[in-house]
Amino acid sequence: MELVSWIVVYRLVDYHECFRVYDNPNVTVHFNTEAVDLVSNTKGQMSGILIRKVDTGEESVLEAKGLFYGIGHSPNTQLLKGQVELDHSGYVQVEDGTAKTSVEGVFAAGDVQDHEWRQAITAAGSGCVAALSVERYLVSKDLLIEFHQPKTEEVKKELTDRDVQEGFDITLTKHKGQYALRKLYHESPRLICVLYTSPTCGPCRTLKPILSKVIDEFDENVHYVEIDIEEDPEIAEAAGIMGTPCVQYFKNKEMLKTVSGVKMKSEYREFIEANK
Ligand SMILES: Cc1cc2nc3c(=O)[nH]c(=O)nc-3n(C[C@H](O)[C@H](O)[C@H](O)COP(=O)(O)OP(=O)(O)OC[C@H]3O[C@@H](n4cnc5c(N)ncnc54)[C@H](O)[C@@H]3O)c2cc1C
Repeated sequence: MELVSWIVVYRLVDYHECFRVYDNPNVTVHFNTEAVDLVSNTKGQMSGILIRKVDTGEESVLEAKGLFYGIGHSPNTQLLKGQVELDHSGYVQVEDGTAKTSVEGVFAAGDVQDHEWRQAITAAGSGCVAALSVERYLVSKDLLIEFHQPKTEEVKKELTDRDVQEGFDITLTKHKGQYALRKLYHESPRLICVLYTSPTCGPCRTLKPILSKVIDEFDENVHYVEIDIEEDPEIAEAAGIMGTPCVQYFKNKEMLKTVSGVKMKSEYREFIEANK
């Protein structure tokens, strides 16, 4: 088996890391040495690395077939230098277990203040601590101002709002809710097209405008009822609905067809045309 040597170019900043490296017999540490270039063989593959002693300038080639380049950990805190207290490695110093820095009202979170864990989840957690600390600070100083979105006029819905007994109007084409469906089922001579949806169903959002346009083409010859199966679980269960979106057609108190999922507009159009 061919032995492959690897080179890791690394700046060791952590004392624990240093000791682990020194104790490992497979690792040779080259002090005061910088990587200058990669060296390749005639096939264009990496065969070594050109290194230079920083004190003497002497250059030599280390044979290796692989290279890991560690960029080290330098907290990006230059802009804070002289403004908040930093430790000797440049990390923002925070009061233990808090996000408080040396300056009142300034809170630090994430990798700039964490020389130990430096992970996405710890950064996010400390971000939460800092955000809540800022909020508390502003409240304690009576500086918190709440902003609210201006109220916009409610957009007129295309569908009648979920029909209730008082609001139900059989002459309208489009309806919502189980009350409307029950009334239409018993009283309407028209073909009834029922769309079963649920709030978290993405394909339902795709199907709604498609079906709505087809219904507009037939308008007074058809009734359309939208049933949110979370709002009206009883009727969905009674209709045997197993998933959304699902379309059912009724006429003369009879269920004609069930269509699951999203189909081509033409499929809905052709069925309504043939059964209206
Ligand atoms: C190569 C690599 C691999 C990693 N792998 C993992 C891993 O597998 N799992 C894991 O949990 N963690 C991993 N981490 C660590 C993780 O990415 C960090 O802990 C985390 O992103 C720190 O979040 P942060 O918000 O503190 O800093 P950052 O994510 O670095 O965000 C700081 C932001 O501030 C911006 N910024 C900097 N200076 C200024 C300025 N002057 N003005 C305005 N904006 C500025 C930067 O552009 C950046 O968007 C990895 C990190 C690296 C580098």
